[in-house]
Amino acid sequence: MTQTLDTMSYDALVAALDWQVDLGVDEAIGDGPINRYGLDTQAPRLDAWLKRDNPAVTQTAPPVTDTRGPVPPVPFVHTGPDPVAVAKAAADGAASLGALRDALDAYPHCELRKGAKSLVFADGNPASRVMIIGEAPGADEDRAGKPFVGRAGQLLDKMLAAITMDRAAPDAARAVYLTNILPWRPPQNRDPDPAEVAMMRPFLERHVELVAPDILVLMGNHACHALMGRKGITRLRGQWTTALDRPALPMFHPAYLLRNPAAKREAWADLLALNAKLKDT
Ligand code: URA
Repeated sequence: MTQTLDTMSYDALVAALDWQVDLGVDEAIGDGPINRYGLDTQAPRLDAWLKRDNPAVTQTAPPVTDTRGPVPPVPFVHTGPDPVAVAKAAADGAASLGALRDALDAYPHCELRKGAKSLVFADGNPASRVMIIGEAPGADEDRAGKPFVGRAGQLLDKMLAAITMDRAAPDAARAVYLTNILPWRPPQNRDPDPAEVAMMRPFLERHVELVAPDILVLMGNHACHALMGRKGITRLRGQWTTALDRPALPMFHPAYLLRNPAAKREAWADLLALNAKLKDT
């Protein structure tokens, strides 16, 4: 039986909405684009609608003649608080990782939080010498509330195991700590938007300060762009650099390796370089 909105239960409606959010829907829009500049003025359409659905309405409104000419565009003026300044004040005030997580959770200016199920803060051992920074949570991470738990994360765990490292290792020398540039899943896994990255950067900077790792691993183009101001992972990978005043190694993102298994050879070389650096740092 086909269900209509009238016959669906509350739970079924919530499940249907949840499913749409999972698919990345973040706005109520129609099937096709509407050119609103081409639409008639509101008054005659409202009048026609009133007469169609309510025969008691017989009076016809006089035609609307607008002699005021076109409305000039109104420039957008941002009048609220500066979201980056608010983020910086909140992040700088956090004295521990728990406080930083709470500050992120309370931060109201990033729209991504509205479409996400979870705040994905971090995973692994915070005493680790290595902090891995990825891009943003995907659907699996959003569901679990932890970074790198989907297919790419599972590949990353295998790569780390190959150099005897493990996010769950109690020994800080063999452990890793993982986080992302963005803590909320972007709709349909779209790329991070520069404004979102700018808002989240103070939190990321404080996150790195509090964990104080010896080495950062920047996974993929978006992490490199956010922390080095550069993209072009094919050229950047494997080249030691400095990010947030720490040695940093750009690497191929494991999601890229899933799509391009031939690049695992370079990823292996980078893992060996990471291991060697840990030995002499
Ligand atoms: N990709 C990322 O960059 N981060 C995750 O947490 C998962 C996938």
